[in-house]
Amino acid sequence: MTAVTVVGAGFSGAVVARELAERGLDVRVIDRREHIGGNAHDRLDAHGVLVHPYGPHIFHTNSARIYDYLSRFTGWRPYEHRVLAAVDGMLVPLPINIDTVNRLYGLQLDERTIQGFFDSVREPRERILTSEDVVVDAVGRDLYRKFFQGYTRKQWGLDPSELAASVAARIPTRTNRDDRYFTDKFQAMPLEGYTRMFERMLDHPKIAIELGVDFFRERERLRHDHLVYTGPIDAFYGHRYGPLPYRSLRFEHEHHPGTERYQAVGTVNYPNEHAYTRITEFKHLTGQAHPGTSIVREYPIAEGDPYYPVPRPENELLFKRYEALALKERDVTFVGRLAQYRYYNMDQCVGAALKAAQYVLQKTGAAPDEADALAAGLR
Ligand code: FAD
Ligand code: UDP
Repeated sequence: MTAVTVVGAGFSGAVVARELAERGLDVRVIDRREHIGGNAHDRLDAHGVLVHPYGPHIFHTNSARIYDYLSRFTGWRPYEHRVLAAVDGMLVPLPINIDTVNRLYGLQLDERTIQGFFDSVREPRERILTSEDVVVDAVGRDLYRKFFQGYTRKQWGLDPSELAASVAARIPTRTNRDDRYFTDKFQAMPLEGYTRMFERMLDHPKIAIELGVDFFRERERLRHDHLVYTGPIDAFYGHRYGPLPYRSLRFEHEHHPGTERYQAVGTVNYPNEHAYTRITEFKHLTGQAHPGTSIVREYPIAEGDPYYPVPRPENELLFKRYEALALKERDVTFVGRLAQYRYYNMDQCVGAALKAAQYVLQKTGAAPDEADALAAGLR
């Protein structure tokens, strides 16, 4: 019987584990943390409010396949996330939309005139390479300074001109009044939380879970035919080409007894004030009824648990060197935000994990033939 060890019980590891178990493989999932769910883990805090210890996680996807896949393990609560940004003493919608511009500049633009406004302030760039290019090209320097420059410097410790375009491109510019943070077809929160969803996903007779186990400490003891690794790829190779930068956060959780609502929307961003980037109030996300409320502030830091790959060309080059080693491995598969060094959202991790599971089945000879692997886009 083919045995597989999966390092990491987050989205990437849990989905691979489930897929392999359902195909009859013996799967052991280890995580160095004492809980499942990776960074998407949620739990009740000391006051009984459901919180996300590693920062707010809002599920959204355009993929019916991924939504349907997760629906096997959870029901959903429809939820559309909204964000306000504290700028010039006001709280205005982000992404920037018609109302954002009207409120900031005292204008009365509408859907017919907003693009004309953007055209009058934008600084067209011939080549969009950096995050600065993306924003300045779309909305000009003043809005760039108000919303993006300070936030990005805080979040990444880098100026937007030092970061790949893809980072700021996550936030669109709107020429309508839509104030939702995401426009994906499916936007919802797991009805009983992420951890409950992970429990169901990992509840399978062919899956054994070991928590509080660090792969590097215990790798000698672990026997398997194949390893699936979802931790940082540079750590797997002993940082032999030097450390890949990952950005970290310090989370400051706070409970407000007797306060039903702390703020008007799920998240308020602070681009220009404070050492934290944003405050999230969990009850907006979860819909929980509770006489008090719990919030989290996110303070970006350089050292600490790896949370974000840092998208910029030199890091991509360094990653490619590690990836070249990874591609030579016959008995190891790398998947996930840390192992693939990609700024993946949760749904993208699910997609990558479904692919990786096919790859493992093919590599171990446990299932699909070459044609299936080809169809899955793995070759
Ligand atoms: P992780 O969740 O990081 O899981 C990897 C696991 O591997 C960890 O549990 C870790 O302990 C374990 N591990 C690592 N090394 C070892 C080792 N040596 N031995 C044993 N175990 C090890 N995505 C969204 O779609 N929507 C959001 O709103 C959203 N918000 C986010 C907010 C924050 C603050 C952050 C940081 C991320 C957010 N994300 C969001 C992204 C989301 O967290 C990731 O896409 C997803 O959780 C990554 O899953 P993963 O399994 O690849 O990695
Ligand atoms: N960003 C910004 N100002 C904001 C919100 C986002 O400059 O008010 C930039 C910043 O660089 C951030 C990136 O856009 O890191 C992506 O934002 P997102 O909200 O997607 O970040 P995440 O939720 O992944 O931390």
